[in-house]
Amino acid sequence: MTRTVEHVVCPTCGCLCDDLVVEVDGTRVTQARRACPNGRTFFKSYDPTPRLPRVHGREVEWNEAIAEAARMLTQARSPLIYGLSSTATEAQRCAVELADRLGAILDTTSSLCHGPAVLAMQSVGLPGCTLGEIRSNADLVIFWGCNPAVSHPRHFARYSLPPANRRSRVAVVVDVRPTATSDIADLFLQVEPGSDLEILTALRALVHARPLSARAIGGVPLANWEDLAGRMKSCRMGVVFAGVGLTMSQGRDLNLGELFSLVAELNDCTRFAAMPMRGHGNVAGADQVLTWQSGYPFAVNYGRGFPRYGPGEFSAVDVLAHGEADAALIIASDPLAHLPSSSAVHLREIPVVAIDPRESLTTRIAQVVLPTACYGLDAAGTYYRMDGVPIRLRPVISSARPTDEQALQQLLDSVVRVSAGAVPTC
Ligand code: SF4
Repeated sequence: MTRTVEHVVCPTCGCLCDDLVVEVDGTRVTQARRACPNGRTFFKSYDPTPRLPRVHGREVEWNEAIAEAARMLTQARSPLIYGLSSTATEAQRCAVELADRLGAILDTTSSLCHGPAVLAMQSVGLPGCTLGEIRSNADLVIFWGCNPAVSHPRHFARYSLPPANRRSRVAVVVDVRPTATSDIADLFLQVEPGSDLEILTALRALVHARPLSARAIGGVPLANWEDLAGRMKSCRMGVVFAGVGLTMSQGRDLNLGELFSLVAELNDCTRFAAMPMRGHGNVAGADQVLTWQSGYPFAVNYGRGFPRYGPGEFSAVDVLAHGEADAALIIASDPLAHLPSSSAVHLREIPVVAIDPRESLTTRIAQVVLPTACYGLDAAGTYYRMDGVPIRLRPVISSARPTDEQALQQLLDSVVRVSAGAVPTC
């Protein structure tokens, strides 16, 4: 029998749209109304059928897999715990405790996407706001180095360019190439790759009415930047959504530091905010949990018994590329699909434990695979939206699968027992 569930949260991307209407037939979602194509795929492709864990490709009972995972991780000299952007804060909290107990290096996918934005926040602060404030008040919306039309398809309708307010706001896109987002913009500034820091520095000068002698900056005539600076100062409320085009290009955290400084200074004459366009559903929550638990947002090393922060040193990419991890626990992430090959090669050579509701390239090479429930589908949990607002996810179907939090808690208990010598380590 089909049943309808309303006010469902989509955990796929940082928008966390909470207005979905989901049709459930038995244990499968058959319709996810109001979801974008990315969200529909997430809901409709999930198969909650209980699966047995695997150890070295062999299906085993749950407790045997937990014991083997604990043995592998406790025997490692320098284990790496990585992922965490598509799991709930309850599981992230457990992962921090496990890292502390193992003396592990703990990193999240933040270090691959918006880590530079987090570094900039730490050095100059983030002049932020909520998406609700943007929906209600913004009349100038700038998308810089991001393409939400593809990555966050409902961002426009729900937050940044709602149809009811569309005619009263100006949409500006700054990017190195035309995109689906620039197609709907009122103003598109196509800039030269690697010129963001120079442009942002120039904009700061223009906002302070300092004269510039250059004819063009970043390949765009100075007059266009003077026009943008004027719009920024005279709007009622403005916002810049910063994408990985800023964090992953030349300048990286310096680009974001300059942007946040520009936005902070604009608040001398109007209301302005900046917001990193966070990708994975709960990558913002991972930053929050690691920060409140360890003091640092990502790339934390517990190897000396206390947390040490080292972006570029304790980031998963660097730890793996330098061959410094001798075992890995991957949680709700598929690093083999997105890590550079220099890091992926080492991940293939070390023992890997994967906790994930779905099969992936990483679960295929993992020595231990623990199939868990999926938050927002058959598990309840808390996610943080891209503006830092926590949202509670409810299950829409029931299944017998344990959650990531339960798997990590059992793994932690088993590690404690192995460390105490209560369980044989081989
Ligand atoms: S925009 Fe993001 S959160 Fe909203 S329905 Fe699409 S994938 Fe889900």
